[in-house]
Amino acid sequence: MDGCIFCKIAKGEIPSSKVYEDDFVLAFLDLNPASLGHALVIPKKHAATLLDLEPGSGEALLQAMRKIGKALRKVVKADGFNCLQNNFSAAGQEVMHLHWHVIPRHEGDQVIKTWAPGKYENMEQMAALAGQLKAEI
Ligand code: AMP
Ligand code: ZN
Repeated sequence: MDGCIFCKIAKGEIPSSKVYEDDFVLAFLDLNPASLGHALVIPKKHAATLLDLEPGSGEALLQAMRKIGKALRKVVKADGFNCLQNNFSAAGQEVMHLHWHVIPRHEGDQVIKTWAPGKYENMEQMAALAGQLKAEI
C-alpha cells in the first residue's frame, strides 16, 4: 500500500535488519527495541489490523513467531518471550500495517508492565457479556 512504511520494508525499498522471510511473512528487528532482539513479524501483503488479515494466513505468521522465539532463547539467552499485537490507535498501534512484536524476556526484567487485574460485579454480569459476544461471533 502506498505510503506504508512496512510495505516498503517488505518490498526492500527501505532497509531493515531482516531475521526471517518466506513467501508470506517477513520479520525484522524493531528500531526501538523493548529489549535486545525485539523483532517484528509482518504479513508481506498489506493488512492494516488483524481484522484485515486474509483468512488462512495466520499459520505462516504463527510459525514465524515460533522460529524467532526459539532463536531468541538461544541468541540473546531469553528466558521467555512475549508476542504482542496492537490493533488501532486506542490499543497503541502506531504503524498501520499488521505486525506482531516478539519481545525477549529475562527472569525478573521489568520490560513490559502488565495490566492491573479487574473484577466483574458478579457472575451474572460476566455471563451476560459472554452471551452477547457469543451471539455476535
Ligand atoms: P506499534 O506501536 O505496535 O504500531 O509498533 C510499531 C513499532 O514499529 C515500534 O516499536 C517502532 O519502533 C517500530 N518501527 C517503526 N518504524 C520502523 C522501521 N523502519 N524499522 C523497524 N522498526 C520500526
Ligand atoms: Zn503496509
